[in-house]
Amino acid sequence: MARNLDQIVTNGLCIGCGLCASIAGPDKVEMRWTPGGVLRPLEKQALDRETMNLINATCPGVSTSGMAAETAGPGAEHDDYWGYSHGMWNGWSGDPDIRHKAATGGVLTALAIHLLESGEVEFIAHMRSPGEAPIRNVPHVSVSRDDVLAGMGSRYGPTAPLSNFMDHLEKGRPFALVAKPCDISAVRNLAKRDERVAKYCKYLLSISCGGQSTLAMTFNQMAKHDLTEDELTTFRYRGYGCPGLTTMETKSGETHTVTYLSVWSDKRNWHLPWRCKMCMDPIGEQADVIALDIWPGGSPTGEDEGFNGIVARTANGKGLVERAIAAGALEVEPDQMPFVETMADTQPHQAWKKNGMLGRQWGLSLKGRLFPRYPGLRVIRIALFKAGLVYTVRQMLGVMRRVRNGDADEPSVPA
Ligand SMILES: Cc1cc2nc3c(=O)[nH]c(=O)nc-3n(C[C@H](O)[C@H](O)[C@H](O)COP(=O)(O)OP(=O)(O)OC[C@H]3O[C@@H](n4cnc5c(N)ncnc54)[C@H](O)[C@@H]3O)c2cc1C
Repeated sequence: MARNLDQIVTNGLCIGCGLCASIAGPDKVEMRWTPGGVLRPLEKQALDRETMNLINATCPGVSTSGMAAETAGPGAEHDDYWGYSHGMWNGWSGDPDIRHKAATGGVLTALAIHLLESGEVEFIAHMRSPGEAPIRNVPHVSVSRDDVLAGMGSRYGPTAPLSNFMDHLEKGRPFALVAKPCDISAVRNLAKRDERVAKYCKYLLSISCGGQSTLAMTFNQMAKHDLTEDELTTFRYRGYGCPGLTTMETKSGETHTVTYLSVWSDKRNWHLPWRCKMCMDPIGEQADVIALDIWPGGSPTGEDEGFNGIVARTANGKGLVERAIAAGALEVEPDQMPFVETMADTQPHQAWKKNGMLGRQWGLSLKGRLFPRYPGLRVIRIALFKAGLVYTVRQMLGVMRRVRNGDADEPSVPA
């Protein structure tokens, strides 16, 4: 249990989802961009015990759970690495324009539009890059096809998609959320304490997430082209092809591009916050549906038309995928994909991350640090039966060294 938000932030456990700010309200907690290029909550007034208890119970930096069997629904397969699946498809948006412009094959955008146009939900809560500050992503409520389209793409920089989540519940109308796995787990945590989540948040759509970089990654790309933030009208990591070029457009009409592989092949570009390195659910285990890249080995070898792996994690998600296919919103290969084999082949980095978790938790614990709890995410089973003792101990020693070097520390949010 954290005493306050500062303790979560300074232990490197805040991912900046914004749920605490939404729970506490703007008078008490404000999401701020820090000098380190991340979004973090500033506690403007001390929080009362009840509010802090709810934040401790929901914050994905404090605790992230596995999916409950009853939430997944009957008939799903389950794997220690990859969680629940009611089916995995190779698919893409039925609209070729969406497929071309979206991050991968446009599945999340297609599902969101289908949900709105079929009347299943009244709005989509997701992210967008504002034109006036394209690297500073903001949460957006979309109510139409064009609205949803403006949010397409993968934002590898910081996002706080839950910073207005309680407002969505207040509306008392059906909606769907598109967000990262850590955000989704925060919403599932909240669902255990606030019955409005199950009543109004009809679908949780997510991705497989290799980690969300600080703005340093984006600034590095801009620096290579001598660009400053105020010159930009567009910053796009992906899309307009798959994976597409990282594209920077300026007010003076210049366009600068970098290939996906040149951004990702050099680990010095990544700048992942500590919480991402401590992530036990990078694959949206608690979502209804996830859409991911299915490049063999986990990396593209060139451009393609955009093929998403689509995993229905709940019976609710399976129903949505099947209805979207029937309506032509999604197109899929006729044969489903073998879930465990495809995940292992296309997301190997996520298995390695899971392998090291017990050792990392031990390391943090021995150093007297806070660390996230992962009930139901099979931390011990994976360490025992997949990673082995030697790897676990190596991870533990590695984390202890990093803590000594200050790698797990984050400064307090400046007032
Ligand atoms: C930080 C990050 C890391 C990723 N790592 C992996 C990985 O390791 N392996 C893998 O297979 N795939 C990864 N992806 C997912 C991949 O890039 C695509 O997003 C995914 O395949 C969905 O494609 P799509 O065409 O259906 O998305 P689109 O149809 O383009 O829709 C994307 C939706 O996601 C929302 N969104 C985008 N970025 C964010 C964000 N940062 N936070 C919240 N919402 C967001 C958008 O607003 C939009 O609604 C990552 C994505 C992100 C953002």
